[in-house]
Amino acid sequence: MKYDRQKDVAICAACNWASSANHVTPDVISTFKHKYPVWLTGYKDWKHIKAAAKKHNESSLHKLCLDAKLNYAGKSQVAALVNSKAQENLRRNRVALEAIFI
Ligand SMILES: [Zn+2]
Repeated sequence: MKYDRQKDVAICAACNWASSANHVTPDVISTFKHKYPVWLTGYKDWKHIKAAAKKHNESSLHKLCLDAKLNYAGKSQVAALVNSKAQENLRRNRVALEAIFI
């Protein structure tokens, strides 16, 4: 959950991220907007937020969005790791070539 200070509402960061960036299928987004629009636009009922958030967190749609976000973050870390390894290989190859031609 994320607090939007300007609107004074709570939103689900994972669901907002997944639906706004199209990281889940359009039918999931459509179902989500129909079933849980409040977690995208903002939840204001502070008296009942604990129970509402628990129910939302246990929903299959939220779990889909959370999985999409975690998978995306995992892929980014793998891409960064591969990129750093490639950079290291490039540096070593340059040093080897300099040793031969200089
Ligand atoms: Zn959610």
